[in-house]
Amino acid sequence: MSGLSLNDITKEFGDFKAVDNVALNVPHGTFVCLLGPSGCGKTTLLRMIAGLEEPTSGRIVIDDEDITAVPTHKRNLGMVFQSLALFPHLSVGDNIAYSLRIRGASKQDQQKRVDELLKLIHLPGFADRPVAKLSGGQRQRVAIARALALSPRLFLLDEPMSALDAKLRESMQVELRQLQQKLGITTIVVTHDQREAMTMADLVVVMGEGRIRQAAAPVEIYRKPADAFVADFIGSTNLLPVSADSAGRATVLGSAISGLTLPSGGSKASISVRPEDVHLTAPGNGAIDGTVTFVRDLGGTIETFVEAGGKTIIAVATPRERPEVKVGQSVGIVLPPESCVVLKS
Ligand code: ATP
Repeated sequence: MSGLSLNDITKEFGDFKAVDNVALNVPHGTFVCLLGPSGCGKTTLLRMIAGLEEPTSGRIVIDDEDITAVPTHKRNLGMVFQSLALFPHLSVGDNIAYSLRIRGASKQDQQKRVDELLKLIHLPGFADRPVAKLSGGQRQRVAIARALALSPRLFLLDEPMSALDAKLRESMQVELRQLQQKLGITTIVVTHDQREAMTMADLVVVMGEGRIRQAAAPVEIYRKPADAFVADFIGSTNLLPVSADSAGRATVLGSAISGLTLPSGGSKASISVRPEDVHLTAPGNGAIDGTVTFVRDLGGTIETFVEAGGKTIIAVATPRERPEVKVGQSVGIVLPPESCVVLKS
């Protein structure tokens, strides 16, 4: 298969499994984000792909070539780490040309490639600037250009945006995605920021405790989370218990939700409903009865916290969509069945 293939990769540190039997196929040209809470094994997995860590078991294959035992410098990878690790005493051009110089490229070829890459990262004419005089975002771009100098077959980045402030991070995410699309290079980014993953990735790989919990397109991860862990990690959600009543209807907090089907077996399950899918109406008419406990007006959206059956349910709407409600008011909560995802418990 063209692209990257991880075949049952496990990494143990002593008795501890940091990465547990990970299997993943990444088609050529895909932008992957490895996402998950701190300590879930993202960096260890990336380091194994990079050749900086050896798997305890499993195989790593790129474009049909088994590279599990190939040393890092022979894997033809571009890498950017959190620290960026630019050479502070060198100019922008010399930083970018570093790997070309090591490979013995002629001065002319180095210059040509540096100019190409500077254009690509929107810093034309910056070759002679000292790296020390660049802004955070410019340094980030130079680190990316340096990693791409040898046209690697895989581009690996570990938390590349974490040193940037929130606004710059958002614009760099868009820039990195556009650059990757232009080059069509298979890219793997480690992040713990779900917004970052949703912005950039074709394929989001959510990890927990060393295992892949779900690997899918961003919208699918958001709309159809595989389990409560993924639902809770991606965006905010309402996780509510659901059970079948005596007539077999799905019941949430004492109200039947018609049109919602539960898996057979009658075991306990839960549902995930995104706050923007929760509607508030007048109490009664089969809606779940609740009481408003808090209203947070964020300008563009309003979050309403409603207590019902000992649970707090959050509803989000724009000021235009949302009915006027006040703290202490009784309301009806409507959960549209098509927006309720039944999760494995
Ligand atoms: P973070 O977002 O905090 O960087 P992560 O998901 O990237 O977390 P890893 O750095 O891959 O997580 O670490 C996974 C687990 O493996 C952690 O519990 C970590 O302590 C452990 N670990 C990583 N490297 C080593 C090592 N060299 N020796 C022992 N344990 C390690």
